[in-house]
Amino acid sequence: TKAFSALAGVDSTKTIIHQTTHPKAKLEKEKLKFGTTFSDHMLEIDWDAEKGWGKPLIRPYGPLNIDPASSSLHYALQCFEGMKAYINDDGKIRLFRPDMNMARMNSSMERLFLPTFDSKEMIECIKQLVLLDKDWIPKGDGYSLYLRPTGISTHPHIGVSASSKAKVFVILSPVGPYYPEGFAPVKLYADDKYVRAWPGGTGNTKIGGNYGSTIMPQYEASKKGYSQILWLFGEEHFVTEVGTMNLFVYWINENGEKELVTAPLHRGDILPGVTRDSILQLTRGWGEFKVTEHTITMPSIVKAQKEGRLLEIFGSGTAAIISPVELINYNGVDINVPLDAEDGKSGKLTKRIWKEMTDIQYGRVEHPWSVVI
Ligand code: PMP
Repeated sequence: TKAFSALAGVDSTKTIIHQTTHPKAKLEKEKLKFGTTFSDHMLEIDWDAEKGWGKPLIRPYGPLNIDPASSSLHYALQCFEGMKAYINDDGKIRLFRPDMNMARMNSSMERLFLPTFDSKEMIECIKQLVLLDKDWIPKGDGYSLYLRPTGISTHPHIGVSASSKAKVFVILSPVGPYYPEGFAPVKLYADDKYVRAWPGGTGNTKIGGNYGSTIMPQYEASKKGYSQILWLFGEEHFVTEVGTMNLFVYWINENGEKELVTAPLHRGDILPGVTRDSILQLTRGWGEFKVTEHTITMPSIVKAQKEGRLLEIFGSGTAAIISPVELINYNGVDINVPLDAEDGKSGKLTKRIWKEMTDIQYGRVEHPWSVVI
């Protein structure tokens, strides 16, 4: 991608806006189903190897016109992001750490040998789109506008080769609370039959190819009554991450210390989650217990549970923010995770982290992570 750097970059000041003449009717917010409703407009920016990035275009939401030979359709030259815009009662709109999502998208683009872009300029373009469709951001606790930036190769040649044409587009989807009736703890299925990612692979990028191959195993797990797969790696059964979430274990470690631990990034087999990073920073800031990124194995979780040292487990990701885990099926046995006796839905730490995160996201607590647009 360095070779492309002399070409035109994304320039948010050149955005062309074609406003819709047929605004869509909005669904009542209580009826929203994740990822099924889309706003009136979308952003589209084309790139080619000779000129670089073209003018950003904001236009009515609708189909893309791409060549059927486009290599995104044949070789999965595709990546995406998931981020949210939140609105509070006085109408202030906030994006949560958009710089992190854009940096991650650039690393996904690089991995596919697609062009990168200037994160700040891309965020400016996204802001223009969100502001134009701001009436689509549902108000209220748990409600937000889900942003889906996507990068695809539009290179129209059926040869497995570097792309000379690409497109970035962004669509917006109003979403409701992941758990409308408060937390609903999830049941995970830990199995080594399928492997999601491995060292040297692409698990640390958000490319479509990582996800397509999980649908069938996910279906098999759901038929057994488990909502998500906990992906394991290696003969030691390293705990990596859940379907679309990173995983945190809160326990009393072998040395008798309270510790919040999540899988490390160095093997490159998990996605570096924005929520994951935020939780690590927040809890380290409290200084109340040990917070570490190191390898956890399934056998060590089983051992901790047997010895009464397992305190809480939760997943973290943009969609649900925090998801309490109530059990993990491993080797055919359900390993129960303790839940708070008060409501039986999550642990105390899980609740506290969820509250601190959402206070920042909705601007109830001012924080530099929450970018007012
Ligand atoms: N792991 C995977 C595989 C994911 O798809 C996601 C969702 N982006 C996450 C973890 C959580 O990442 P984030 O906190 O940035 O949403």
